[in-house]
Amino acid sequence: MTSNRRTRILMIYTGGTIGMIENPVSHALEPFHFDNLLKNVPKISMLDFDVDTFQFEHPIDSSSMNPSHWTEIVKIIEKNYNSYDGFVVLHGTDTMAYTASALSFMLENLSKPVIITGSQLPIGEVRTDGEENLITALQVAAAKDSCGKQMVQEVAILFESYLWRGNRSTKHSANNFNAFTSNNYPCLAKIGLGISFNDYALLRIPKQKHEELIVHYGMDNDVIYLDLFPGIKEEHVRHFLTTPGLKGVVMKTFGAGNGPTDEWFLKLIKEAVDNGIVIVNITQCSNGSVHPFRYVTGYELMQAGVVPGHDLTPEAAITKMMYLFGLGLSTQEVREKMEESISGEMTCC
Ligand code: ASP
Repeated sequence: MTSNRRTRILMIYTGGTIGMIENPVSHALEPFHFDNLLKNVPKISMLDFDVDTFQFEHPIDSSSMNPSHWTEIVKIIEKNYNSYDGFVVLHGTDTMAYTASALSFMLENLSKPVIITGSQLPIGEVRTDGEENLITALQVAAAKDSCGKQMVQEVAILFESYLWRGNRSTKHSANNFNAFTSNNYPCLAKIGLGISFNDYALLRIPKQKHEELIVHYGMDNDVIYLDLFPGIKEEHVRHFLTTPGLKGVVMKTFGAGNGPTDEWFLKLIKEAVDNGIVIVNITQCSNGSVHPFRYVTGYELMQAGVVPGHDLTPEAAITKMMYLFGLGLSTQEVREKMEESISGEMTCC
């Protein structure tokens, strides 16, 4: 149903470089009040839609983000879901891809845009990328199709020249203005003179599944990464895999999903799986997918009970595990769901 009321966007400020200012003593950047940010972007008042703002009580550097902050963001969106056409989340770049992935799972049946953006330089600096990112993120969040429906109906990251699916994104540069990329999925939109959406890449909830927004708060962080390297020691892997309370491991393997075939290694993996730990295999390569049948080294991992993570990003894999365990699912259910795409995060074979 379309209405004649003006489009309304809620902007949620969590912190990050975009709103930071230099500490006069240490000269290090630290989060500052939202008013500082808005004062630097008077152009917001020139937009042909309304923008309201909400600020975290204590804006943070995103390196300090944890599931309690994701919960806070989701609560704000849930509370305001029916009053706004879309949401823009201002966030530090360091863990933006984790937040984007987590929100994509926590917000089930999302049919409105949640656009996350930030900047590499504070908005008060002369050469800032913050103003452009902020204005474009607002415009993307307000964009409607010819039927008056939201153009973007998922969690996405807007940065410099691209709009990326949130749970497919990764921060790939600590220096460049184009700080994000998506190695296994096309961009949702290209930002140039105009905003050019890739309609075919945008996520749409299947029609028969159209329901109200459902939010999930229980993110279970009894999970860890195990990053393989040649020479990794048995006692370290054992220590890792016998961590009390551990439920899930995202194992970053070589190439198409390969690991050492040493007897001790496969034995430890099998013991962990037999003890109910879910181990998901993702590749250390930035592009491509795990193919457990290609080499014996990947096949043996699968035989030991490791679940193929296909082309999941590390950020999506770990937050998806937190989400699935947070739902209280059994080990077997988590294993199965890790291989299904929940919100467009993986290419299933
Ligand atoms: N350390 C900052 C943060 O993630 C970096 C940034 O915002 O770009 O909050």
